[in-house]
Amino acid sequence: MTPIDLIFATANDHKSREVAQILDQEWLDIKSLKDVGWVGDIAETGTTLQENALIKARAVHTKLGGHVFSEDTGLEVMSLGMAPGVYTARYAGPEKDAQLNMSKVLNGLSQGQSRTARFRTVVALIWEGRELLFEGLVNGQIATEMKGDEGFGYDPIFMPYGYDRTFAQMGDQEKNAISHRYRAMMGLKKFLTHNRKKG
Ligand code: IMP
Repeated sequence: MTPIDLIFATANDHKSREVAQILDQEWLDIKSLKDVGWVGDIAETGTTLQENALIKARAVHTKLGGHVFSEDTGLEVMSLGMAPGVYTARYAGPEKDAQLNMSKVLNGLSQGQSRTARFRTVVALIWEGRELLFEGLVNGQIATEMKGDEGFGYDPIFMPYGYDRTFAQMGDQEKNAISHRYRAMMGLKKFLTHNRKKG
């Protein structure tokens, strides 16, 4: 059986690898934007993670058709009014610098303040012309300093509940088994498995 192409609208290679590991379906050929020769950025102008996920999936679907999904992730820190949220990538400025972003979160939390936080991922899928959304959450807290060298983005300052280590102190497999992205992708995987024959 020829695999069905499913485009993942992301330019982030780390995410691509993570997601390919999670979905792991032999009947699906997951293609990144690089794989389909996409050039240029898709402006994330939405005010929610849902809107941004849909913007990315629709932009690629409008141009290339077929089956497309995208995802948008935000770090939500309770004491910061759920910031950085939809501005997670550019919290400390347009250069999207992970170190500066993490420093801004750490500096925004004073001693004694709650450090409760969560990562939230929204996945938008366009499948046979239908739009579907899936969500995944991981609850935890912001560490008092950056720890670990694995992963990317805010991983060095996020400690999931039940662990005394940050995501950056875990290997890919350990993180992928509990992450926000994993949980959102499981919703997507379930849908795809159920809809396999119609693909
Ligand atoms: P986006 O979904 O690619 O727009 O990511 C938004 C921001 O969240 C970026 O700054 C990413 O580095 C960060 N981010 C997304 N997923 C993760 C993760 O799994 N760990 C740490 N940071 C993440």
